[in-house]
Amino acid sequence: MSFCMVCKKELTCYDTGFYKKMVNRGATEFACIKCTCKRFEITEKQAWEMIRRFQKDGCALFPAEEENE
Ligand SMILES: [Zn+2]
Repeated sequence: MSFCMVCKKELTCYDTGFYKKMVNRGATEFACIKCTCKRFEITEKQAWEMIRRFQKDGCALFPAEEENE
């Protein structure tokens, strides 16, 4: 289990996946979506839209998209 290097929040695979996409695929330390958004000056809503798009593209960093939403 890893934690956000900024706010110490426990990270999900979405946090680490988003960080890898935005910052560095080989990262070993991560920030949560909220802190990554702050760094890139985007909103969390935008971040989730990007994540959904990565999922649609079949990005291996994120779990497969849920069919039943
Ligand atoms: Zn954080």
